[in-house]
Amino acid sequence: MKRYKIALIKGDGIGPEIIDEAVKVLDSVASCFDFYFEYVEALMGGCAYDITGDPLPQETINISLSSDAVLFGAIGGTKWDNLPREKRPESGLLRFRKELGVYANLRPAVVYDELINASSLKPEVVKGVDLMVVRELIGGIYFGEPKGRDENRGWNTMVYTRAEIVRIAHQAFKIAMTRSKRVCSIDKANVLDVSQLWRDVVTEVATEYPEVELSHMYVDNAAMQLIRDPRQFDVMLTGNIFGDILSDEASMLSGSIGLLPSASVGAKIGVYEPIHGSAPDIAGQGIANPIATISSASMMLRYALGENAAADKIDAAVKRALKEGYRTKDLAQFDAKEVCSTSEMGSIIANYAAK
Ligand code: NAD
Repeated sequence: MKRYKIALIKGDGIGPEIIDEAVKVLDSVASCFDFYFEYVEALMGGCAYDITGDPLPQETINISLSSDAVLFGAIGGTKWDNLPREKRPESGLLRFRKELGVYANLRPAVVYDELINASSLKPEVVKGVDLMVVRELIGGIYFGEPKGRDENRGWNTMVYTRAEIVRIAHQAFKIAMTRSKRVCSIDKANVLDVSQLWRDVVTEVATEYPEVELSHMYVDNAAMQLIRDPRQFDVMLTGNIFGDILSDEASMLSGSIGLLPSASVGAKIGVYEPIHGSAPDIAGQGIANPIATISSASMMLRYALGENAAADKIDAAVKRALKEGYRTKDLAQFDAKEVCSTSEMGSIIANYAAK
């Protein structure tokens, strides 16, 4: 029997609740195949700071690097908001992505027919939406130097090198080849020099993928077009900060941020995590939607382990649970037959995934 070693980073807030459900589903689907999971838990975020004084202990990096993949919950919370920046949970997460070298964040946004009424947009606008934001994750303004602040000024630097743009562009074009072969590259080339380089380099890389249709769009227009006509998009290629914002916007197309998974890839070890944060406002109440994390586990099976049949089973189980009217509280007002807790939703999906 094949064994996959998975680093589990539950984190803060709802992190432990949603990871437990993803593990339930993974074990359930594994029982149908000839593999099993060995999980190794590692600390990150506020919980790591409380125990070790560091939001990202070296042991967490070591455990992650010696695993087949990392399944990650969420970090952060008001308790740690006033720590010095380098001690804050969010700094640990940025450092973690950098240490692993996961430069490409894949964020699919799919509108399930069963939840067509959950979107804040009209059904006829969102029906059939199936797009993928490919976001550069370890460069751009979140990492650029110089940065700093004094009493009267704060400054950050948006910088991209040719090599950083080339590798993320290849990711986007490769993914487009497995989908409907369209890439829309998002930038602000009318104002920013860094975006002019981005546009030129993406255009050069596109020549290696003659089957893929490339278009360019300014980020402000993209924010508007996502609401006006989201079906026009297949793969959206973005830098770090633009992708951060646009993928949260795209999440509302599907009705709840609790539905959307992500994969951070590009290095030997990938990180699979929901796009939402630690939701301290609902932590410990058993009402968080575990679907984003369960779907992240499905992405892990597909992208890290090549277990596509198992991933398909999880995706089908999620769809079935929604089709049959099971909803967590965030989606309770949308055609719910039964409102269930985090753990009940995990069990329903685990049960369907094993069939
Ligand atoms: P958030 O995503 O945690 O929550 C935003 C809203 O969405 C809240 O009302 C929350 O209750 C709801 N929500 C989020 N996930 C949900 C789920 N699975 N089911 C149901 N409802 C859900 O964003 P925030 O409130 O801006 O941030 C809270 C903390 O999370 C902060 O400390 C922030 O820095 C951190 N954060 C962490 C990550 C990460 O770990 N990758 C990402 C974003 C924010």
